[in-house]
Amino acid sequence: MHLSEILVHLGEDREAYFNAVSPPVIQSSNFAFPDLHAFREAFTDELANHVYTRGNNPTVAILRQKLAALEGTGDCLVFSSGSGAVAAAVISQVNSGDHIVCVQSPYSWTKALLTQFLPRFGVTHTFVDGRKIENIEAALRPETKVLYLESPNSLTFDIQDLEACGRLARSRGITTIIDNSYASPLFQQPASFGIDLIVHSGTKYLNGHSDVVVGVLCGSKEKIRQIFESEYMTLGGILGPHDAALVIRGLRTLELRMNRSFQSAMKIAGWLEAHPKVERVLHPFLPSFPQHDLARKQMKGAGGLFSVYFKAGSREQMEDFIHRLRGFLIAVSWGGHESLALPTIGFYDIPGRADSPLPWNLVRFYIGLEDPDWLMADLDQAMAALVS
Ligand SMILES: *Cc1c(COP(=O)(O)O)cnc(C)c1O
Repeated sequence: MHLSEILVHLGEDREAYFNAVSPPVIQSSNFAFPDLHAFREAFTDELANHVYTRGNNPTVAILRQKLAALEGTGDCLVFSSGSGAVAAAVISQVNSGDHIVCVQSPYSWTKALLTQFLPRFGVTHTFVDGRKIENIEAALRPETKVLYLESPNSLTFDIQDLEACGRLARSRGITTIIDNSYASPLFQQPASFGIDLIVHSGTKYLNGHSDVVVGVLCGSKEKIRQIFESEYMTLGGILGPHDAALVIRGLRTLELRMNRSFQSAMKIAGWLEAHPKVERVLHPFLPSFPQHDLARKQMKGAGGLFSVYFKAGSREQMEDFIHRLRGFLIAVSWGGHESLALPTIGFYDIPGRADSPLPWNLVRFYIGLEDPDWLMADLDQAMAALVS
């Protein structure tokens, strides 16, 4: 199906709601039945029928169809956060005594799920440098049930060879899960490489307006039905219809936003790389990126995120540089309309939190929808603070 058809038309049954162009927010927890026959009929399949909004809601169902089509999978579930989707995906595949192989430095709360939460239930893990398939293979054990990938991750952009991972895991009967938030389904479709479950923080690019927290889990019809009947219904971390309508609206401009953000990021990252006050820039689509060829092979594009090591004489200079920026907000998250700067130095000196092991001259930037020339002028004036 053409991307435009998915984003503009798929799942939208306009005749069912007065030919409205924007689908209605069916803000109802409950659905009633004309008689007991219809009641019994609906209960034969709570995933498909409207019984109760924890299971299925018409507005949410439109979003699910679009997301499954974008990822090229049989079905999709949406959650109240990306972390909710990650947790449901991982928990659904393991029992006590099982083992998970996970790439090093995944998203922080994914790491917490593996290191803090799952050990309480007898599930162990090994973190590996997933840039080499041999490292992943060496970490697999007879009790390994999940290979968890995040490619690229959202700070150093380490990449895994998805085709090789999919093949290896399938040959051992291991379920593969990937966090695809960085690339979005527009630029990377892991199912086409044999990856089983795809999760997103839809809070980032999919919604794209920094006004909803949402999680996405895509997979085959069978796997999604299993997760629906267990983790989705019992843990209950669902997305409400109002938020679903906002994400549907966000998806209308997914292609425009991603391409704008990507192109602006390439322009700014390339310019920074040549700047005398910059030591190094990390973006998977810069030719200087160590895994550039693999990025090009399995991704159609990249996003607005990149990391920069500056040449700075002191921590004070770095702080001064950040404070001089006008076009970049100091904030976590990314994928919205607004450009951001997240300096590692921000994580230093927080009471009760050990000093970050990351170097203090590192800043992760996210490039939003503003004019890239305006952002470059802003970076240029702020870099006056840096004297090495
Ligand atoms: C933000 C993020 C998450 C968590 O998603 P939430 O919507 O914040 O719960 C997971 N993975 C990645 C890569 C993220 O950037």
